[in-house]
Amino acid sequence: MKTLPFLLLLYVTFSYAFPVLPEKDNEGENTQLVQEYLQKFYELQPDPEHLAWRRSSSSVIEKIKKMQEFFGLEVTGKPDPETLEVMQKPRCGVPDVGQYGVILPGWKKTKLTYRIVNYTPDMTRADVDKAIQKAFKVWSTVSPLTFTRIHKGIADIMIAFGSRAHGRCPRYFDGPLGVLGHAFPPGNGIGGDVHFDEDEQWTDGSAGFNLFLVAAHEFGHALGLSHSTDTRALMFPNYAYVNPSEFPLSPDDINGIQAIYGE
Ligand SMILES: [Zn+2]
Ligand SMILES: [Zn+2]
Repeated sequence: MKTLPFLLLLYVTFSYAFPVLPEKDNEGENTQLVQEYLQKFYELQPDPEHLAWRRSSSSVIEKIKKMQEFFGLEVTGKPDPETLEVMQKPRCGVPDVGQYGVILPGWKKTKLTYRIVNYTPDMTRADVDKAIQKAFKVWSTVSPLTFTRIHKGIADIMIAFGSRAHGRCPRYFDGPLGVLGHAFPPGNGIGGDVHFDEDEQWTDGSAGFNLFLVAAHEFGHALGLSHSTDTRALMFPNYAYVNPSEFPLSPDDINGIQAIYGE
């Protein structure tokens, strides 16, 4: 019995000496996270030969660097802990590159229509209507745009909730967390449409995800804006809860919308 304290001490010393063990167990998971993130948001092409992803692949390193630059992280080209942390944040499904930095041609009109095609069971219909209406008001306050709700037929902006493969949308949702919603730039057909991931918990408060805030962000895309690197901007890709009673647009968002539609 006298040796017990010594053994305990030995055990403690041993476990402190190998702090990297749990991280190593996650390596495969991290590789998959990085690959999927870069494919979704940084135009990383899936390997055409279906070979295992090579961590040293130059295109992967280049895409990681782009992502780190976008988020103001240290540009290492490696999936370091800070980078992995950002990659796990809930965010918008619209890519950060491609249309990034480009102001798209907006609608050729300022009177736009919208339709709420279906509802989430997470909130009352009245609260969904309110959140959507308020999210449009954010943009109409700082531009000549007006938004009128219609209840049938095709609206410019068709709003729907869906999960995984949904409707005729070419994009998929990913279950709880990760991507919260996505939107399509101005245009016919799916152009201007906005979808929310039904696998999220939608609320009008601070729990789960605030529908008003996510809707206001997605409407920015539906009006022609792309993602901003400004962390204070509503068009920053990651979700951040701000008190919905505060006006959510930053000067960057206002400059963006006014560059398309005027003041
Ligand atoms: Zn977005
Ligand atoms: Zn969709």
